[in-house]
Amino acid sequence: MSVLLPRIVVLATGGTIAGSSANPASSAHYQAATVPVSQLVQAVPALADVARVEAEQVAQVDSKDMMFDLWRMLAARIGYWSAQDDVAGIVITHGTDTLEETAMFLHLTQACPLPVVMTAAMRPSTSLSADGPLNLLDAVRVAASPVAVGKGALVVLNQQIHAARDVVKAHTSAVDAFHSPVAGPLGFVQDTYVHFSRTPGPDQAPRLPVPAAWPLVEIVASYAQPGRVGIDAMVAAGVLGFVVAAAGNGSVHETLTAALVDAAACGVAVARSSRTGAGHVAIPAPPRPAGGVFVSAGDLNPYKARVLLLLALAGDPSLGRDAARLQALFERY
Ligand code: ASP
Repeated sequence: MSVLLPRIVVLATGGTIAGSSANPASSAHYQAATVPVSQLVQAVPALADVARVEAEQVAQVDSKDMMFDLWRMLAARIGYWSAQDDVAGIVITHGTDTLEETAMFLHLTQACPLPVVMTAAMRPSTSLSADGPLNLLDAVRVAASPVAVGKGALVVLNQQIHAARDVVKAHTSAVDAFHSPVAGPLGFVQDTYVHFSRTPGPDQAPRLPVPAAWPLVEIVASYAQPGRVGIDAMVAAGVLGFVVAAAGNGSVHETLTAALVDAAACGVAVARSSRTGAGHVAIPAPPRPAGGVFVSAGDLNPYKARVLLLLALAGDPSLGRDAARLQALFERY
């Protein structure tokens, strides 16, 4: 008697996993987002031993050009497929450049009970030693695995399983470019063995709605002798929130601090992340943030912190006027 394999849907958005080059020896010069998902699936016959795979081309973009409309479309397609009775899991193929932001968006918005697993590749599909085929197979294995249920949005690359909230791209070209710098990976895939060494943190907060309209939220960096003209211009243009890629443990140059204090006085939300690439930015000691001591984005890098601030300000544009609530938000998600 043959066993019915789980039904897994692959939603493709483009990226290097769907990239091609006329020169297979080149892994740096190629065109991203050119190969249709049907062809990517066909190139991995072993998928047929793992799942009944169905593929949908949601978009075909280089993820450097990611837009909120595509995030919304992705959320809608996840909603559609996860409502089908016999779908066991969803895999999303994506470019590596902004994967960590889309992953954060999915972490914050998806209450989907099925595994939602992102994957990508550092080398184009035509490259010698392309990493996409194994990453796709591993992602489908994870999406089809009962042990992945209830673990939140996941990212599978280079045989590692990461929490979508934690994972970042930390190298320009290496195949092991993805890390979870503070928490570490959740587990690994070794051939048919899908193993979770730990479960993601106890985030019980409700998922945030996908906005109909997105506020302006920007990232500014602190470095030697910064100017304040950019901040002042952005406030005048209606920016509702800033994430500061601050130095070290959240230190902000006094020139930027002065500009951000003025912005905060107009109700703009300001959160400090770190430009170091790893670690938790110290939370201001009680009494909770006031004056030039802005809230901490915790261990979220500036790009991930911006996604949280975008979604939070979309739901409550006045959040910038309440530093204690803003701090609580970053401690919650
Ligand atoms: N520029 C590509 C993208 O993000 C890079 C990649 O996927 O590795 O779509």
